[in-house]
Amino acid sequence: MPIRLLPEAIASRIAAGEVVERPASVVKELVENSLDAGASRIEVETAEGGTKLIRVRDDGSGIPADEVELAFRRHATSKLQSAEELERIATLGFRGEALASIASVSRLTCTTRTAEEEMGLRLRLEGGKVLSHHRVAALIGTEMRVEDLFFNVPARRKFLRSRLSERRQIDAFLTRYAIAYPQVAFLVVHDGRETLRTEGRGHPREALLRVYGRELGGALLEIPPHLGERGPIRVRGFVGPTTVHRANRGYITLFVNGRWIQDMRLTYAVIQAYHTLLPVKRYPVAFVMIEMPPEEVDVNVHPAKTEVRFRDGDALFRAVQRAVRETVVGEAPAAAAWTPPPLPEGARREAEANAASESALPSTAQAILPEPSLRRRLANLQPTQKAPAPAAPLPKRASPSAEATSPLPPAPARRLPPLRVIGQAATMFIIAEGPDGLYIIDQHAAHERILYERMLREWQEGEVAAQPLLEPVAVTLPADEAARLEARLEMLARLGLRVEPFGPGTFLVRSLPALLREVSPHDLLADIAAAEEPEGPVREALEELTVRAICKRAAVKAGQVLSREEMERLVRDLEATRNPRTCPHGRPTILRLSVEQLAAQFERR
Ligand code: ADP
Ligand code: MG
Repeated sequence: MPIRLLPEAIASRIAAGEVVERPASVVKELVENSLDAGASRIEVETAEGGTKLIRVRDDGSGIPADEVELAFRRHATSKLQSAEELERIATLGFRGEALASIASVSRLTCTTRTAEEEMGLRLRLEGGKVLSHHRVAALIGTEMRVEDLFFNVPARRKFLRSRLSERRQIDAFLTRYAIAYPQVAFLVVHDGRETLRTEGRGHPREALLRVYGRELGGALLEIPPHLGERGPIRVRGFVGPTTVHRANRGYITLFVNGRWIQDMRLTYAVIQAYHTLLPVKRYPVAFVMIEMPPEEVDVNVHPAKTEVRFRDGDALFRAVQRAVRETVVGEAPAAAAWTPPPLPEGARREAEANAASESALPSTAQAILPEPSLRRRLANLQPTQKAPAPAAPLPKRASPSAEATSPLPPAPARRLPPLRVIGQAATMFIIAEGPDGLYIIDQHAAHERILYERMLREWQEGEVAAQPLLEPVAVTLPADEAARLEARLEMLARLGLRVEPFGPGTFLVRSLPALLREVSPHDLLADIAAAEEPEGPVREALEELTVRAICKRAAVKAGQVLSREEMERLVRDLEATRNPRTCPHGRPTILRLSVEQLAAQFERR
């Protein structure tokens, strides 16, 4: 076939495919236009998942009557005048493609009026062709009615998913924008049913509660302004405490300069900020809004504009990671006492389903059964008859008066209920009673958590207290591990581990961290040398990794008999940690069996 230029009608339909992939993309483009027009109220109505109707109405600036037809031409925009402006985009739109694209694949009616005009203008298009335009009485603002989307692109229609799935996509977008733009009142109606309404009073927490429900929305911690400020970068938003987590990354939302973006690296920065704080394979809930000079961001990467590039990605990564981490670790006070207004029925049910409490304590009866590998370990365990000396002497803190002199500052908030120790099971678990059920504590994981937080704190406050050994101990390691250890000697000294090279592959250990005097220096060095260098731009990670390796080695083991006193101390110390529910490796330290579950198991109901 000879080469020919495509007829305009076909070319525009191909181009439209890039912008308008599905109903949710139409909603996105129209709502972004409303926001760019300075709307303070945006109503969205859909029918049949947006395939039959998408109506977006705003009270924004409106389009001047003599520009309306132009607005529907490709590359027609009021938001960009020169090439230089492309370098610093401050509006959500700028490509001038959306209206042309949407109009070319639907039946579209636009009604609009500016404050300067007495009457509005109504323009009707079908498949991009103007059918009619006439003056009508209209409120200031713009209404776009998009009907029969893809009526002329049957191939695309076939690829649409179920109405419910399309609706979910639309809601995923709208709920996020409702939170990011708390000064705008959103009203969303699907098939005649109201599903989201925000007040637009400018309170981000209010919008959050509307969207996520009281339980989840109220639990999220606000990033304090002083933590988000980093040079020209500002990080705001809400992040989940460590007790809130989800099975996937879908609850991590990122906005840059008012635009919802998808960015693997920044998502990872958020996940990384929760390192060791969440159970393994669980992800945080976070709503992070970044503001930065527009010239630092390139939004002109993809027509849908959800992908962006950053001039200094590393700085941004660090800013996000830090703001999130410090908010979570610093335990900003949870939600201020907001009394959320009642939600519409549908939205409430969805919000509740979303918020379906996912506490860090697995609380089904099933969850307390050890996993198979654990059961095997349990069977193979040779319970020691005589209690061996604990590898790490648990600090003596018997009387309440001694409590006051403890090196631990009191925990800011009690994150575990007060527990009464009942006894030890399988020389592995401590059984305790709480106000609301039975608690089973993994003695090793719990002790790891306690040691980890103590050591990290000492390290962060300067140096970890060291206990010199009476006789230095010589340790020999294989060449590759010796080389790795050699490079870490300086860092180890800061962790209370003074180690000197002593001939090929051999080291002299002169002191150990005071917290764990009785650990075998050889095992400890081998663990540290074996730990792989972490990846990613997190500077402290190697130290943290090393501290984890040390604590793992030093914590009381399964199979170790504990006295009642030791168990009680361990439970008290666990209560005092910042994150009592997981070990530094993210495994749970404590499980709960509620009274209700016990009653159900005994068929008392
Ligand atoms: P872009 O948003 O990239 O400029 P669009 O095709 O989405 O391109 O819109 C074209 C133009 O139409 C915009 O630049 C704007 O001037 C005008 N416009 C579109 N929607 C609205 C609206 N809701 N209110 C006011 N003006 C609008
Ligand atoms: Mg636009």
